[in-house]
Amino acid sequence: MDPLPLSALNDHLYCERRAHLKFVDGLRGTNEHTLLGDLAHEAVDTPGYEHRAGWELLRALPLFSDTLGLSGKADLVEVRRDPADATHIAAARPVEYKKGPSRRWSNDQVQLCAQALCLEEMFGLRIESGLIFHAASAKRDEVVFDAQLRSLTLATLDALRATLARAAAPAAVLTPRCDGCSLRPACLPEAAALPSRRARLFEPREY
Ligand code: SF4
Repeated sequence: MDPLPLSALNDHLYCERRAHLKFVDGLRGTNEHTLLGDLAHEAVDTPGYEHRAGWELLRALPLFSDTLGLSGKADLVEVRRDPADATHIAAARPVEYKKGPSRRWSNDQVQLCAQALCLEEMFGLRIESGLIFHAASAKRDEVVFDAQLRSLTLATLDALRATLARAAAPAAVLTPRCDGCSLRPACLPEAAALPSRRARLFEPREY
């Protein structure tokens, strides 16, 4: 089984059709949101490490989970080593960089939780929380990996696999999220809304 990219979970929660278009049909798109996202990631995309406030900072750390069939890269992982054995990681927390302010949607939290599940398997430890850094507000929000978020993450992974196994992409549904979707020019969600509009055009008029 080929591992799925961690970012596909985020895409799937944003829009199932988007996940299919990207990871089955291979479509890519660029808009102002993806460009700003790239800028927010610029500082953390070069592998490396440094120390800050007692934490060792590992940038662009490759992640994987054989159990879940996931792989990807963490923007940043903060780790503390065991003072008695520097080869042993005693604590870790993933940090994800996002271009915008805090959002009510859970897709970023699920992606971060999936990173934590990978780290738990890689380092053999339990990770209680991580951080999302919002470039627009320069704020770090703590995300607690409680039972509810863990179970939503695993359910999303199952749903993602089911979506990607479909021969055709799910139908487009025009929603406000389409405004921020880089695949909109290829997806054409307006076309999906067309039949109902056409039906209204040809409704008999009363005189
Ligand atoms: S344009 Fe809308 S329906 Fe199409 S992939 Fe993007 S979010 Fe989904």
